[in-house]
Amino acid sequence: MKADTRFFTCLRHARVYAPEDLGVVDLLLAGEKIACIGENLETPVGLDCEEIDLQGALVMPGMIDGHVHITGGGGEGGYHTRTPELMLSQITMAGVTTVCGLLGTDGTTRSVINLLAKARALETEGITSYIYTGAYELPTPTLTGSVRRDIVVIDKVIGAGEIAMSDHRSGQPSYEEYRKLAAEARVGGMISGKAGVINMHLGDGKRGIQYLFDIAAEGEIPRSQFLPTHANRNRPLFEQCIKWGKDGGFLDITSGINPNDPGSEICVKPAEAVREALAAGVPLKNITMSSDGGGSMPVFDEEGNPVGVGVGDEKTMLTELRDMIVEENIPREKAIAIVTLNVANALKLHDRKGRLAVGMDADLLVLHDDYTLCDVWARGRQMVQEGRPVVKGTFES
Ligand code: ZN
Repeated sequence: MKADTRFFTCLRHARVYAPEDLGVVDLLLAGEKIACIGENLETPVGLDCEEIDLQGALVMPGMIDGHVHITGGGGEGGYHTRTPELMLSQITMAGVTTVCGLLGTDGTTRSVINLLAKARALETEGITSYIYTGAYELPTPTLTGSVRRDIVVIDKVIGAGEIAMSDHRSGQPSYEEYRKLAAEARVGGMISGKAGVINMHLGDGKRGIQYLFDIAAEGEIPRSQFLPTHANRNRPLFEQCIKWGKDGGFLDITSGINPNDPGSEICVKPAEAVREALAAGVPLKNITMSSDGGGSMPVFDEEGNPVGVGVGDEKTMLTELRDMIVEENIPREKAIAIVTLNVANALKLHDRKGRLAVGMDADLLVLHDDYTLCDVWARGRQMVQEGRPVVKGTFES
């Protein structure tokens, strides 16, 4: 903890979704943890405790973004299109307190070692970070020479990703290669007590996730070993992912792809995709959302000509959370679970993350009535106050 941070903070009159509805309660934060939740809490006698009256404002767990290019991504339009590293406040100002970093298309000029170093930097700066080992291609780059060994010996590695499937930018691996990777990650996860999950980038290729159905049909590797992402990137793929979800698999919807963005017209709007998946009978716990933040997003002019490259923004998570609740009429506790609890469960981070409960990490958001961001606490420290970052990354001015 920094010297400017009190050990105890009491948040009074919080309208808490944990994500379950706890009503209006007080929360006592002690160091990095939630120490107590209840009505009219007594603050520790004789100790320096900051008291903040939230006056009934909505409080939820800090979001867990399971798919972020923290070291930047892209590079598909030449070297100058490699997107830059994310700074701390770009993450906290999006309401995200836990990130899972990964590499994408470019596992050549970018490395897993660099990714690990960046993840450690973000942890030092105040949020929580994990990484996936690997990149789009198979065999995939690792730290120690094997996916299994990376998961077992590197604390921050929770699985492999993002591994490309049905995409022209993949290494065009065979069915056998995906199957072997899944086995590697699974055993690595078992030995280390981690998820050992494969964050599977889905492209627009016609085969979609057929290989995943085939692997699951063999009956040895469970569906939970895979977290297929960008499920909403086109309609046929989304229909496949709904079937996958109904059969017990996870499906991850990308908040950063939106049919209103030029070039992305064929995708399903993220909040709508959640509503549709629930209506189709996908269990709530199988649906997660991530941003693809830090990845490259092409920018087009009014005639549709490419004029540059933008960067995926984690703030789309909060926008889609709002839209889930306001536009799609998904109950608050369900919508919030999709960006908190469900991600924690899918990635086996649930002993520390994803819920507001005694003993859990003190990661929480205070939202305005219109679901815009007011305050953020990460591991007990206030990072954002009244919509402004009060803690900045090392190189942020
Ligand atoms: Zn991707």
